[in-house]
Amino acid sequence: MEGRTILFETLLIDFMFLLIPFIGYFIFFDAKNYPHLNLIFSIMATISVIGCLSLPIHLQSGFIFDLRYISFIIIALYWGYKNALIPYFALNLYRFLIGGDGIIQSFLFSTVILIAASLCSKKFLSFDTKYRIPFAGLISFLTMVFYLFTLSFQTPLDHEFWMLAINATGTHFIMMIIMVSMIERLIANMRAQKLIMQSDRFQVISELSASVAHEIRNPLTTTHGFLQLLSQSESIPSKEKNYVAYSLQELKRAEKIVSDFLAFSKPQYENMADSDLKEETEYAKNILIPYANMHNVDIQIHFHNSLHRSFDKSQIQQCFINLYKNGIEAMKEKGGKLEIEVSEQKRSIILKIKDSGTGMAEEQISTLGKPYYSTKKQGTGLGMVMVYNAIHKAGGTVKVESKKGRGTTFIIEFPV
Ligand code: ADP
Ligand code: MG
Repeated sequence: MEGRTILFETLLIDFMFLLIPFIGYFIFFDAKNYPHLNLIFSIMATISVIGCLSLPIHLQSGFIFDLRYISFIIIALYWGYKNALIPYFALNLYRFLIGGDGIIQSFLFSTVILIAASLCSKKFLSFDTKYRIPFAGLISFLTMVFYLFTLSFQTPLDHEFWMLAINATGTHFIMMIIMVSMIERLIANMRAQKLIMQSDRFQVISELSASVAHEIRNPLTTTHGFLQLLSQSESIPSKEKNYVAYSLQELKRAEKIVSDFLAFSKPQYENMADSDLKEETEYAKNILIPYANMHNVDIQIHFHNSLHRSFDKSQIQQCFINLYKNGIEAMKEKGGKLEIEVSEQKRSIILKIKDSGTGMAEEQISTLGKPYYSTKKQGTGLGMVMVYNAIHKAGGTVKVESKKGRGTTFIIEFPV
């Protein structure tokens, strides 16, 4: 009886060690964009590996085992081998310091797991949540089977061995399922939170902007007209006409802001049409060719898509114009190639817009889409607001991959 209680207690303590990265996350990093999150996670995982290793689970039979490989596998699966290297070295160093039998075995074994789990990482991350959980459980289970298999050459295959087998494989399978379910839940919550914040932002902006923009547009047009008349007047000296010209220029800018504003607050479903996006991508290209030539940019479209769905044509065109324009502006120093690729994937149309321009840092990407966020002298910071809003309304998603100094790729997915 006592043996069982101790077993259960140790199991709970090991479980607590596995939870260290979670607890750390909730206390310190919740909803923050921290730059070295990967590194911090692998350090926390290292702590849990060491914790598990120093408090192994003692079976009544005299065998011991621990849960050290669980956080190790998780880190390798989610973040690849680079981040698993810290726990890997720590594990082996600590195991070496503990001494005793099995140092070499532990070293070889952890190396095999490091390689195997990292190789599975890409496949694993391409799965949906509902496949990731059993997949990780299976990997953890197989790890233990492999461990027992190597052990079976050194011990007799008696009752005790089989008790260890059942305990170790069972615990690993169940613990892994619990851990990955929690991680997946956490990821889903983070995504939902981001989405809610984004859509709140759009809601307020589009309601306000529609009314304000309308009210402002009329006086602007009138003023524009009168100023134009004034600029043709003969009673004004030419020096003062310059002031009028400046006023006109500034008014044009104001009008542009208003029309950008109206463009993204317009309700969707105005001129819906069935499309495979060929026409829209080409249209935006044709409009921007002169602008691209001016900046030595070559626009190329690669089209491989047979899927159709309905879009608000003018909004989508405006969206593409904004995205292409940003890409061209990012390459305006050195020129370059703006590559647009339309392709299909199972049940969605994927659009990639890739430039080799200035690129953006992490914080810049997360600010993208906030109204008036612009790094350009003449920028309005409304282009991306319109893009996010229109794609959002059309049921699509936007992903941004960018490296400072290297370039940016916008990946837009429209489910069909
Ligand atoms: P604007 O173009 O008027 O500045 P946008 O909303 O279109 O406003 O873009 C906001 C900001 O996002 C830009 O000022 C720029 O800093 C950044 N940005 C957008 N697209 C890109 C890109 N392809 N490459 C680099 N930076 C970009
Ligand atoms: Mg822009």
